Amino acid sequence: MPVPPLGDYPPEEFRTEGHRLVDWIADYLVWSLDNPVLPKVRPGDIRSALPSAAPESPASFEEILADFERVLVPGLTQWNHPRYFAYFPCGFSSPGMLADFLSTAVSQQAMLWRTSPAATELEEVALDWLRRAMDLPEGFEGVIYDTASTGIVHALAAARQAGVPDVRARGLAGHASFRIYVSEHAHSSVDKAAITLGLGLDSVRRIPADGEHAMLPGALAEAVAQDRAAGVVPFAAVATVGTTSTTAVDPVAAIADVCAAEGLWLHVDAAYAGSAAILPECRWAFAGAERADSLIVNPHKWLFTPFDLSVLFTPRMDVVREAFSLTPEYLRTAEKVKNLMDTGFQLGRRFRAVKLWTVMRAFGVEGLRARLRDHIRLARLLAEWVDEDPAFERVAPVPFGVVCFRAVPPGVEDLDALNERILGRVNDSGEMFLSHTKLGGRYVLRMAIGNIRTTEADVRRAWELLQGACAAG
Ligand SMILES: *Cc1c(COP(=O)(O)O)cnc(C)c1O
Repeated sequence: MPVPPLGDYPPEEFRTEGHRLVDWIADYLVWSLDNPVLPKVRPGDIRSALPSAAPESPASFEEILADFERVLVPGLTQWNHPRYFAYFPCGFSSPGMLADFLSTAVSQQAMLWRTSPAATELEEVALDWLRRAMDLPEGFEGVIYDTASTGIVHALAAARQAGVPDVRARGLAGHASFRIYVSEHAHSSVDKAAITLGLGLDSVRRIPADGEHAMLPGALAEAVAQDRAAGVVPFAAVATVGTTSTTAVDPVAAIADVCAAEGLWLHVDAAYAGSAAILPECRWAFAGAERADSLIVNPHKWLFTPFDLSVLFTPRMDVVREAFSLTPEYLRTAEKVKNLMDTGFQLGRRFRAVKLWTVMRAFGVEGLRARLRDHIRLARLLAEWVDEDPAFERVAPVPFGVVCFRAVPPGVEDLDALNERILGRVNDSGEMFLSHTKLGGRYVLRMAIGNIRTTEADVRRAWELLQGACAAG
């Protein structure tokens, strides 16, 4: 057997294979429209179709792509399908995907300004564009992390740094218990951050919400007073704009009042709905967010930026740096510049900013607004259909692109079981993917509209499938 040559693909081979790949992707994007949103595989199917050890000899890219198509494509859950309505939308878009390719092609690793002046400065510029589009105050500086789950760890670490500065040197041992307040509908990433930061799950106190699933600020003030009396140290509150179950909006301004009075760090979790801040008509939901100590938005959910790209904005980036900056000798450089490694626990980081920058340029802020407006229009249209059909009821307001509802046809005793069957049926159809939640102990269907390729015809088809599945009993 000839010894394979060393080094990378020769330039001409890269060109040929690159064209092959782009052609494949273009075909896939059309093919995917008529293929199941949820794959029809069983657990273990994919693994067992693949060899258990890496091959000793090389394969051509053409062979690899053929195996990708044969073995892996049947196991793809099609997040970028126009009738993927589960959880939250994915930020797929063609310009975003091309930018991701570009980011890898140039291999930037922006730990220091010197290791990528372009990635470092583009991150600053693109995030300031986003800040302006969202109408956040000028003093808010941004940083990109992979996910909101990573972002909240940094936000709460900064809150901890502000509240207990000696924690950086000495850790938490010997300190009293701390408390973070969240609504009963807040995302589980807050709990995971408490675990990660050594604060413990007991440090997270859930505050009751009103009938529209928004945190009760009076109950927050009471809980803080109770904790102080019991010797627990309150240090942060998380307000959610767009909760994960129903996209409820906590009253940020009233929560900000409590935080100001009590000296708490205010974090705003707008991972999903933050994108809507680019719409003037949605700004009401962010009233008070200008007083936040930190705010998270995920362009990878509802701003057409492919996974992953989450943004933390804060007027107190100095505190984030206080918490995390640490420079070993080998990373010292002469320039007086911002080094991105100082704004988090990661050293190396991807060149994610190029995705957001490309997406904002490719659509323009007006193009982004138009797309979000259309998603909200479609969600409200679906809400109308639900409201008009006596076999269904809507269970939450629709401020953004998510509709929560359930089937309630007369004469059915176990409505939870019926709704679970409906979910199973529409998902088995392969034509759509829907997820559920529980509200007040009841099983609720949840349809999130926000993928770039979703049209009114898709929402109409989904509603037909749902009505059919309900009628089947
Ligand atoms: C999706 C979501 C998160 C977690 O986002 P990741 O980026 O997947 O970590 C946190 N909070 C809210 C409100 C969310 O909707």
